Amino acid sequence: MKYISTRGGMDAATYSAILLEGLATDGGLVVPETMPRLSAEEIERLRGHNYAELATEILGLFATDIPREDLAEMCNATYSRENFVSADVVPLTAISSEISLVGLSEGPTLAFKDMAMQFLGQSLEYVLARSNRTLNIVGATSGDTGSAAEYALRGKHGIAVFMLSPQGRMSDFQRAQMYSLLDDNIHNVAVEGVFDDCQNLMKALFEDLDFKRAHHLGAVNSVNLGRISAQVVYYFWAWLRQTDGVAESERATSEVSFTIPSGNFGNILSGHFARAMGLPIRRLVLAANENNVLDELFRTGIYAPRGGADTFATSSPSMDVSKASNLERFVYDLLGRDSDRLNAAWRELSETGRIDLRAELPRFVEEFGIQSGTSTHADRVATIKSVFEQSGVLIDPHTADGVKVAREHLEPGVPMLVLETAKPEKFPEIVFEATGERIGVPERLEGLLELPQRVTKMANDEDELRKFVAEHAV
Ligand SMILES: *Cc1c(COP(=O)(O)O)cnc(C)c1O
Repeated sequence: MKYISTRGGMDAATYSAILLEGLATDGGLVVPETMPRLSAEEIERLRGHNYAELATEILGLFATDIPREDLAEMCNATYSRENFVSADVVPLTAISSEISLVGLSEGPTLAFKDMAMQFLGQSLEYVLARSNRTLNIVGATSGDTGSAAEYALRGKHGIAVFMLSPQGRMSDFQRAQMYSLLDDNIHNVAVEGVFDDCQNLMKALFEDLDFKRAHHLGAVNSVNLGRISAQVVYYFWAWLRQTDGVAESERATSEVSFTIPSGNFGNILSGHFARAMGLPIRRLVLAANENNVLDELFRTGIYAPRGGADTFATSSPSMDVSKASNLERFVYDLLGRDSDRLNAAWRELSETGRIDLRAELPRFVEEFGIQSGTSTHADRVATIKSVFEQSGVLIDPHTADGVKVAREHLEPGVPMLVLETAKPEKFPEIVFEATGERIGVPERLEGLLELPQRVTKMANDEDELRKFVAEHAV
């Protein structure tokens, strides 16, 4: 299996090679040259596997240049009881006769990013060691992605992490989660400024190509194909568990639908991959919050990304995205995997601020099974309340966006699986507003707020950051 760029300007490369890169060398996104396909019998043969074994089988279709024993070892280390609280790794929980939650938040930072980031940590360390290289990850975070990356990369050989966060702008919980990591290779930098300042500092370092090369800078952002491939696994897992109770003769045709609380289109893109690989998925329903650029695209065929100033700060903050970085991979498939057509669409975007895909609109659902909907703060509150009343299960605001939109897309006889993207403990205020229930930190994180913290405070200053990175780089 080799990987090429959506924009057609990159030589085919191996999985190991692209694991270290964010974007393709021509500025496009990396995609498999051909999507692996599984027959119904091949999928059925995966049924007996535990999560780590299933991950080895699915990721083995993408990482064909990594020996199977090594991949199995990495998957065992990743999807272990040490990292994930549930014995199943990903438990399914019914909240009504039609809807079940797919529990993707059992990892160390209580959000679904752990599912892929933990694998990326293992595989990066492995690939770097084999090629005798080092990598210095520089990132900017307003909370969630940074902590998932740090928990995945702590203590890894040949890797250091420099995570910029805005001073005084994160919750006590988020600060404690990140700053209490005392590993030598984790460097938290609290910048005097807001999230955008952090992001601009990070960009300045990456644009300084001499500096970038000299210090082996890298990123682990949401377009990284290692992350996308690791997320494919739980779609297979969820389908297999959902159909465990179905008569054997009917399993192969037993379709389920998924609803995915979405921001950068990474999670749902992995569902699109799973469907293209042959998994019987009927619908992939995209749930947006008030930042509903993608819902607009799937309803009207017009893609019109918005800037930061037109992006609302909502109570499901991880979905506050108005320019979905992974969408290019879907548009590539939509346009027949034709780089010339894709490049024309992107030219249209830069010239007019939008892409007109109305001619393709019927194919969104007919060919790709994609539908969408929007949810607001009032919807989140009402949904958290009604799910709690009906099932006794507390959900977080992102998952609530999912359940709200899922309920609007139910079809008779088709189970609906909503991806739980975070734990309610991360968002106690809205849970209290909705249910009157006060939830504290989960048992396994008790005492977190009292742990010693290590952080380097820094002015919003490129040169100071350069000096710090150069001094601490591996
Ligand atoms: C990142 C995130 C999302 C959005 O996922 P994408 O892959 O960016 O679409 C949704 N919910 C939570 C809690 C997240 O952390």
